[in-house]
Amino acid sequence: MGYEYDRVEVPDDGARIEVVDEEADELSVPENPIIPIIHGDGIGTDVGPAAQKVLNAAAEATGREIAWMRVYAGESGREKYDEHLPDDTVNAIDEHRVGIKGPLTTPVGAGFRSLNVALRQTLDFYANVRPTYYLDGVPSPMKAPEEMDMVTFRENTEDVYAGIEWEEGTDEVEQVREFVEEEMGFDDTMHDGPIGIGIKPITEFGTKRLVRKAIDYAIEHDRDTVTLVTKGNIMKFTEGQFSEWGMEVAEEEYPDEEVFAVPDSLWETTDDIDIPEDAVTVEERLADAMLQWMQLRTDEFEVMAMPNLNGDYLSDAAGAQIGGLGIAPGANFGDARVLAEPVHGSAPKRAGQDMANPTAMILSGRLMFDYIGWKDAADLIRDAVETTISGGEVTYDLARQREDAEKLGTTAYAEAIVDNLEDLA
Ligand code: NAD
Repeated sequence: MGYEYDRVEVPDDGARIEVVDEEADELSVPENPIIPIIHGDGIGTDVGPAAQKVLNAAAEATGREIAWMRVYAGESGREKYDEHLPDDTVNAIDEHRVGIKGPLTTPVGAGFRSLNVALRQTLDFYANVRPTYYLDGVPSPMKAPEEMDMVTFRENTEDVYAGIEWEEGTDEVEQVREFVEEEMGFDDTMHDGPIGIGIKPITEFGTKRLVRKAIDYAIEHDRDTVTLVTKGNIMKFTEGQFSEWGMEVAEEEYPDEEVFAVPDSLWETTDDIDIPEDAVTVEERLADAMLQWMQLRTDEFEVMAMPNLNGDYLSDAAGAQIGGLGIAPGANFGDARVLAEPVHGSAPKRAGQDMANPTAMILSGRLMFDYIGWKDAADLIRDAVETTISGGEVTYDLARQREDAEKLGTTAYAEAIVDNLEDLA
């Protein structure tokens, strides 16, 4: 591809990750890949460098080396370029296919879109992926938090997040109201007076590529079930359609022995259905019920695929069950590209104090390693983080919930993880 960069350098001691087959999500990854990193705003300045240390140690312990390409967005983008999302940054992530970012503060003021949304849309990262699993030693509100081990695939580009909406009092909103009432025949449906209206687009294209990603992930990671989570009983032509298209992917694009679309799973039990033994089963569930089952039958769910808004709610609820924001990792997947990022934001109150918990960013790096096929390094990171936390070395957010733990700063905690990682390697 070869972009020209204005104010950053491509490191000359690394090699580029190349695409082998974009649709099949196949990359060729050298042992010394160039990986762009945005440390991020607020606590990003603490957790970014800390995560980098742990990721370096895991790469080294498995015979590799990362050539980091530091790029800038948010506050650091504004300082270096006078722009919040410089082209250099977008191009570096585009060209190198695999990157990691810390949290970015969405600037307050008219005309600013969320930088995260802008990045996801510009590079078409259409699946937001959040693995939620328990780490021994993390305080949790649940009786059996270890039962949770699930991965949510949230559609990232459509639904009520598409931004197609009109403000009350504008000519546009009145035009849309008139169209819906008079042309579309909903003349008695909306109350008179001021109104806001938004549109909820769900397309076959957007749905199928997301569900395909979730099913492929389940196959590759030896998971048994994929659950499509919607409010299809109420929003029949959007969420219901998502479910239908999703089941079509399972039925039509994979052999039954590999992927089995369970018929009528919304309303019937599966007891008397002949399911091929090693197949990944794909089932439908309703979102409201799902939020209760996640707590009551936690271990039954493994991979979930859902429209944007459901994914937003459900993945936060799942995250709370295993101990909350400081440890919740995530990543945005596109076709043969990934941008890992912690779920949490820039927590400005804690910024620059060497206090914040870098676990979420470290585990986001783990997800990135897993994506590029560095499973040994990924497992090492998880084991080292778990050994550190269960051994009682934690940051302030976990320390205040545990009497037996030692409170460490961000840097000292990352160093403790590196020590454990080197012992485990
Ligand atoms: P936040 O995640 O920054 O903070 C919420 C709470 O969680 C705070 O009490 C904070 O102290 C705590 N917390 C979060 N991460 C932590 C960590 N690593 N260690 C210890 N405690 C942690 O959410 P917010 O306050 O709603 O948002 C602040 C800013 O971050 C906003 O500008 C928002 O737009 C932005 N944001 C960015 C992203 C992203 O970049 N992906 C995501 C969410 C919010």
